[in-house]
Amino acid sequence: MNPIELYKKLPKKNCGKCPQKACMPFALSVIKGDAKLSECPYLTGDARDAIEVSLKTSDWREELIAKLRDEIKRINFADIAEGLGAELKDGALIIKCMGREFIVSPDGEITTRGHMTPWIKILLLHYIRTAGKGSLSGKWVSYGELKAGMVKASSFQRDCEEPMRELFDKNFEGAIMVLNRLGAKKREDFPAKQAWHLFLLPKIPVIILYWPKEEEFESKVKIIFDSTADRFLDAESIIFLVEGLVKNIEITLSRG
Ligand code: SF4
Repeated sequence: MNPIELYKKLPKKNCGKCPQKACMPFALSVIKGDAKLSECPYLTGDARDAIEVSLKTSDWREELIAKLRDEIKRINFADIAEGLGAELKDGALIIKCMGREFIVSPDGEITTRGHMTPWIKILLLHYIRTAGKGSLSGKWVSYGELKAGMVKASSFQRDCEEPMRELFDKNFEGAIMVLNRLGAKKREDFPAKQAWHLFLLPKIPVIILYWPKEEEFESKVKIIFDSTADRFLDAESIIFLVEGLVKNIEITLSRG
């Protein structure tokens, strides 16, 4: 089942009672394993059971992972490691993603310390399959300026920048503490009250800019990318990568 198929089975009230506040993001989160069907109060027990069965019988994520692993097997890691900013060790790639090390074997199996979702596997396999190379430009651009970013710019704002702004507004100190743990560094050379530099993947650094609420001006978050980011991941995957960061901060803060 893909997110659209799941969305069609939801009550589609867009009532905002689930943590994702709308049915489509909720469907995406369920598919990614970040949300549970029970978080939608309008789904009856029978409807939930029927969806659970469909989710189990057709796990498109596992199918996609298997397909990507097949493609990865044909890639010589020695040829792409440097381009990806990864380390090559005993034939495996070691890739840092949001402060954590992931080991990818030549047949595409991924291991790490701690919990791993199918979604991070898909992102890492995409990153390897894309086999981007080249140096970072040092030129920062908005998501909309990346290749194919313009058509998805409103999704990026809704699913990444807005939830990040809410997290900062609610608990700025806590959010910064989590970002620090992930390896973020404060920057003073950007025209925002707060600017934080973080490597989401070795070749995908971001700068998170935050303007807190001031008098009549509402708070704002802008997330910008090195202009080469689209060489290493497609626009859709970049959204999921940043959503993963937001989720990471949210979950860490909710644990206290
Ligand atoms: S609680 Fe259910 S109906 Fe309401 S927005 Fe979330 S998924 Fe949609």
